[in-house]
Amino acid sequence: MSCIFCKIINGEIPSNKVYEDDKVLAFNDINPVAPFHVLVIPKKHYESILDINDNDMEIIAHIHKVINKLVKENGYDKTGFRIINNCGNDGCQEVKHIHYHVLAGKKLDWYDA
Ligand code: 5GP
Ligand code: ZN
Repeated sequence: MSCIFCKIINGEIPSNKVYEDDKVLAFNDINPVAPFHVLVIPKKHYESILDINDNDMEIIAHIHKVINKLVKENGYDKTGFRIINNCGNDGCQEVKHIHYHVLAGKKLDWYDA
């Protein structure tokens, strides 16, 4: 499997993990665009939300739960944060393993690219 995030999950590529359980991994983005920039990914490989069907809703709910926990642990429930899921070419999705960016720690600009 050539997927870079699957390699991070199985330890072939190192990462700074901030949360892990049997279904989900969260780690610091290698190229942060905010003081807090974490990627939250399912351990099961899905290319994007287009691969998520009725049987996979639990993992999406679980990811939201993990994000809730991470932002509260870091105090960003008070100041705010942003969740981004890039999808496909126009969404500028570079890594084809579904991931949720969680950005916080500064006033985030709104932009479309
Ligand atoms: P995308 O553009 O696909 O939504 O975001 C992919 C993200 O993965 C980018 O923000 C990029 O910095 C991050 N990324 C790519 N390769 C690695 C890596 O090997 N380690 C970590 N920690 N982040 C990575
Ligand atoms: Zn993968």
